[in-house]
Amino acid sequence: MQFSYSDKKRLGLYVHVPFCRSKCAYCDFNSSVPQSADIMSRYVSAVISHMESYKNIIKEYEVDSVFIGGGTPTALPKEELVRLVRAIKKIFPLSKGAEFTVEANPATVSLASLKQLRRLGVNRLSFGMQSADNRELKALSRAHTREQFIESYRLAREAKFDNINVDVMFGIPYQTYDSLLKTLRFLTRIGPEHISLYNLKIEPGTPFHNNMKAVKEVCADEEMEYAMYTAAIEYLASCGYYQYEISNFARHGFACAHNLKYWNCEEYLGFGVSAHSYFNGNRFSFIPDVRKYIPAIEDMNSSIELTADSEQLESRERMGEYIMLRFRLNDGLDPNVFFEKFGVSFEILYGGKVQKYLKNGFMIFNGGRYALTPAGMFVSNYILSDILEFEDLGAYVGNF
Ligand code: SF4
Repeated sequence: MQFSYSDKKRLGLYVHVPFCRSKCAYCDFNSSVPQSADIMSRYVSAVISHMESYKNIIKEYEVDSVFIGGGTPTALPKEELVRLVRAIKKIFPLSKGAEFTVEANPATVSLASLKQLRRLGVNRLSFGMQSADNRELKALSRAHTREQFIESYRLAREAKFDNINVDVMFGIPYQTYDSLLKTLRFLTRIGPEHISLYNLKIEPGTPFHNNMKAVKEVCADEEMEYAMYTAAIEYLASCGYYQYEISNFARHGFACAHNLKYWNCEEYLGFGVSAHSYFNGNRFSFIPDVRKYIPAIEDMNSSIELTADSEQLESRERMGEYIMLRFRLNDGLDPNVFFEKFGVSFEILYGGKVQKYLKNGFMIFNGGRYALTPAGMFVSNYILSDILEFEDLGAYVGNF
């Protein structure tokens, strides 16, 4: 069957760039400081070839969101990033008005590179600022200062980017309730369209984890983190940034279309090391090691397996995933939509657990939808583990 342009199915596209100028002390993302420019060029070529191999598979699709993330995509030499963007546009049919995001580190952009990306159709930038306080940035070992962020942001506006996200973290070393609000006040004054606010998690294998005791001593405790989180939600709402997801706030019309795809269980393909995909009811990801990924694609006869894991989701798993993702969103979960999707009642399956959270103020039922309150969002991992019975964490409930 032939599809006309408008009949095509929608697809998100993610490309992972696993390179950074330096490694932040808290980071467990798949990224490293590249050994040479050559490795970056070979990596970009490998990703392009990999994407090309999907040309036939995606014939019935058009791409309505692209996200080049990392790592730090802008750590690539300018010509390599441009080559990657051009290849994406050539290989994938992009729908009119598709959201096209590139993640950027404030220390790695120039006016010329931003202008070129904008000309090529990149229409959204995502800056990892994390904090507007130089002492806090230093403690995170970020590669940039507050001043460099301000300059990069100014350049992005000069390059005519009118959709900018800025990442902020809370619960980081030396940060106080007041310094977080100061960072947010600074941010709302310069006025990006979107703000992501993440809680620091100390992940195994990171320098922070290796110095856990010392790091925790200079971080807010959990009670203070909760106070910071709720104050941030209130403050951002008062400045016109509505919270649409646990960690995401946007001016009206600027919610991130690409991330919404993940949370709405829509299809997307990811390319590059560790990139995940959800396509045709199948979840899969590619191997995490750049040194294997590149030869696996360069050498047609290579025996290296590109796919790290793959699973066809059973109905119960799809249900669990849907619940987990819907409860990240302020919109929450509509039991009628759940019934339409899975043919079973949400209340019959999960009603008992949900009642407990409704009673304790972690969840509300409003406008026909179940949604987590800010208190529930702060402990969403625990609540969802409990509802979906990953493990019994019910005792945690009632801490706030
Ligand atoms: S810039 Fe981002 S991806 Fe790179 S090391 Fe820092 S946190 Fe990790």
